[in-house]
Amino acid sequence: MNSFELLHAHRMFAEFPSESLSALCTQIEERVFPTGTIISQEGSIDPFCYFIVTGRIRITKKLLNGSDGTIRFAMPGELLGLTSLFISNGRSASMIADTETSVLVIPHDLLKAFLKGEKGQTAEIVTGALFRELARRVRQKNARLAALPAKDVGKKVAVAVFDTKPYIEDVFLQFAPEQLSLSFLPFRLSRDTAQFAQGYSIAVVFVNDRIDAETAMILKENGVQLIALRCAGFNNVDLKACAELGITVTRVPAYSPHAVAEHSLALLMTLNRKIHKAYERVRNGDFRLDGLVGMDLFGKTVGVVGTGKIGECFVKIMQGLGCHVLAYDPYPNPALSLSPDVRYTSLEELFTISDVISLHAPLTRETHHLIDAKALALMKSGAILINTSRGALVDTQALIDALKEKRLAGAALDVYEEEEGVFFEDFSSDIITDDILSRLMTFSNVIVTGHQAFLTKEALSNIAQTTFTNILEFLQGKRSSELTNEVR
Ligand code: NAD
Repeated sequence: MNSFELLHAHRMFAEFPSESLSALCTQIEERVFPTGTIISQEGSIDPFCYFIVTGRIRITKKLLNGSDGTIRFAMPGELLGLTSLFISNGRSASMIADTETSVLVIPHDLLKAFLKGEKGQTAEIVTGALFRELARRVRQKNARLAALPAKDVGKKVAVAVFDTKPYIEDVFLQFAPEQLSLSFLPFRLSRDTAQFAQGYSIAVVFVNDRIDAETAMILKENGVQLIALRCAGFNNVDLKACAELGITVTRVPAYSPHAVAEHSLALLMTLNRKIHKAYERVRNGDFRLDGLVGMDLFGKTVGVVGTGKIGECFVKIMQGLGCHVLAYDPYPNPALSLSPDVRYTSLEELFTISDVISLHAPLTRETHHLIDAKALALMKSGAILINTSRGALVDTQALIDALKEKRLAGAALDVYEEEEGVFFEDFSSDIITDDILSRLMTFSNVIVTGHQAFLTKEALSNIAQTTFTNILEFLQGKRSSELTNEVR
């Protein structure tokens, strides 16, 4: 991306007239700072704004005891140094390149010239954009202040919440117990970021945080005693390594099985009744029905793989639609075994007979690539595959081959085996380098959602509340079987 495209993606610069932004871009330079470079020193006069292109900048400030405290990490897409535009008594914090970091350097004088209107009749628009940006920052800071991480201010227990997003921050702040001090870290936990857990005794993590043995070791060295997963699946945690290191792991076993089961239904309905195509068509004023023929689900056979909490909800929804249900689970669900409309069977029979196959089993060694070329070959021509469980249950390349051979009516996936680098992030102005995912998304009979099946208000509230219950139990001294949701 060139500097115009990079800056235009920023909410403030997006408001600038295109000519002004182009003019600005001709006068700014890109610089690369090696790891550890002090880009700007607290107290110094540094007449530049910095727009981060790649890398990460550590923002530090002198603490009362004279040491430097890390306030936060600034990530690509952030604009730093805007408040110094109007304040001439030096920087309020230091900026240090935490990895090799590339930035666009924007002289304050240049921005001031736009504000004065020296660069054309842009003053009003640019001033508005700038003030809106500053107002947003003040509001954000106020919100953070209201939930000031007590890590530095009291005897609260410091909790690092990794890979956060605004909707997670909102709900976690809503339910946060008094005795916890939450810090929201917008990046994922991995062996590269684990050192940021320094000073936190609890790490709250999500599906794409990767806690392998090395990461667990770094967490341990930095004082982490509890990894509180804010999700049900725990395939991303090396439990053996955590146990050996004495790190407790908890999870949220169920936050709303209905949310995931209902999303599976939404995907099935969309794919079967071609709602995704109809939506686009009608918006373009095209009201033809060609190519929109679906099938009645009533009377069809639905194969459900994994009949735990989510699988059970999905079975009940399908029963409500008048479907016959075939189920596979090494541990059949007693509540369903008694139902006359549900028949447990072998995987082979389920694959062969079902019109719709929906996956609700966890990712384990046994379920990895459960849907492979062999399984796909067994499936009925015109079957629909739904996966809201974990991506690696499906061999994506084999699925693509089956779709190319037109052996399936379609697939709807909320999860993807290589989702880690892509899902939950915005690639709308970037290049997706994953050719398999890109190919998958070209099929008109494939729907991909970005791991959003859990995303309901109820589920988010339950996630936050159960995560806090798990943490409080741990802080009360409960261990192993005394903990309601320990994973071992
Ligand atoms: P659960 O533990 O209640 O049920 C899982 C069921 O799978 C159990 O009955 C278990 O016996 C069965 N199972 C285990 N191995 C199996 C195998 N080899 N073949 C078939 N079944 C097998 O879990 P749940 O709450 O129903 O969640 C199911 C999965 O859904 C989770 O593991 C997680 O990966 C996924 N999930 C996805 C989202 C999302 O947003 N997309 C959200 C929550 C959970």
